[in-house]
Amino acid sequence: MSKKSKRKRIPLYVQILAGMIVGVVIGIVALQSNGAQFIRDWIYPWGQVFIRLLQLIAIPLVFISLIKGITGLKNISAVSRMGGRTIVIYLSTTVVAVLLGLSMGLLVEPGELVDKTQFAHIQEEYQSFAEEKKHIAEEKEELGPLSFLNDIIPNNIFSAAGDNSRMLQVIFFALFFGLAALSINPAKIKPVVVLFDGLNDIILRMVDYIIYLAPYGVAALMAGLITDFEGDISIFSALGVYALTVIVSLLMLIFGFYPLLIRIFTKIKPRKFLKSIYPAQLFAFTTSSSAATLPVTMDVVEKKLGISQETASFVLPVGVTINMDGTSCYQAIAVVFIAQVLGIDLSVMQLLFIVTLTVLSSIGTPGIPGGSFVILTMVLTSVGIPAEGLALIIGIDRPLDMLRTAVNVTGDTVTAAIVDKA
Ligand code: ASP
Repeated sequence: MSKKSKRKRIPLYVQILAGMIVGVVIGIVALQSNGAQFIRDWIYPWGQVFIRLLQLIAIPLVFISLIKGITGLKNISAVSRMGGRTIVIYLSTTVVAVLLGLSMGLLVEPGELVDKTQFAHIQEEYQSFAEEKKHIAEEKEELGPLSFLNDIIPNNIFSAAGDNSRMLQVIFFALFFGLAALSINPAKIKPVVVLFDGLNDIILRMVDYIIYLAPYGVAALMAGLITDFEGDISIFSALGVYALTVIVSLLMLIFGFYPLLIRIFTKIKPRKFLKSIYPAQLFAFTTSSSAATLPVTMDVVEKKLGISQETASFVLPVGVTINMDGTSCYQAIAVVFIAQVLGIDLSVMQLLFIVTLTVLSSIGTPGIPGGSFVILTMVLTSVGIPAEGLALIIGIDRPLDMLRTAVNVTGDTVTAAIVDKA
């Protein structure tokens, strides 16, 4: 058996976890043998390469997948009533999910569990980012209450696309472009749609390759972090509480928020609803991919919930592209957690910015395992938090990814049930 196929047999999440452990061990060994500088010079930069690759792919990914997603709604005029309702429900449930995540992150404060004496040291590490962030925030305050419009509407798409912290502007352009494309006779723009389809496949393959490097990247980043934290293990208890916060929040969506919506807006009993969609949730949980789960989701929704094929075949594929409640809720907690660990205070402005950006960027998140890593690097950079902070959470991401994917799929089925009933 070749080496490559052997490596392929070990699931990626196990490899990432192994990478994390190897990184921690390397970090501890380096600390004990005065090798911290060696790690900084020769190991950590490889982790940064991994983060840079994630950042590199973010703008093309969001841009292309958004346009593909919108032009895919080709029959939106035929089903405009259903289309409008679907999108309103998708966006509002996502906003609720983000707000829940943000509140949980701010309430539980998992990042504050990191040993305070380490804070000064870490803050110093990330001083330049914090300074820059402060500077940007101050500038914004001087500009007046509507200055956020400038953050959304670019005056030049090339300069917007040339700056990772201006993702919102790229999203704006992509939405505008996609909506304009929708209003044109499909036959006329067919080549463009085919082009974006192909581009989307290529970009997703690039994401695959980058994620394939994750075990090595995580090992290098972890080694660097351990030397940065000088072996402080309070980070691990903080990580445990962070994971619990994510899990509890996601369960609140599945067992609290969604059943409530089902009870209010449909005639289905919440218990029956959860029982019926259970196979799709389980499939999503095991594959960590809402896109791969789509056929199962369609099946249970039609056969077990009795939702019309017309509704299911419109609402669910759209949902896979644009509706990611679990992912958005998780991202809000992740951003807050990383900011807390790095000792960065988030202003109200920044929190609002996180809500907007998370809601909109969830539209561009691919429904694949670890799909939100790429988006998370962008959200972090946009609010002035160093993207390297991702290293803190990436090692234990897989179980959280499984759960949030199950939530993503549940959100789609809830919307299908509500739209079908109307
Ligand atoms: N794995 C998720 C999904 O497929 C995306 C993510 O949050 O990474 O829905």
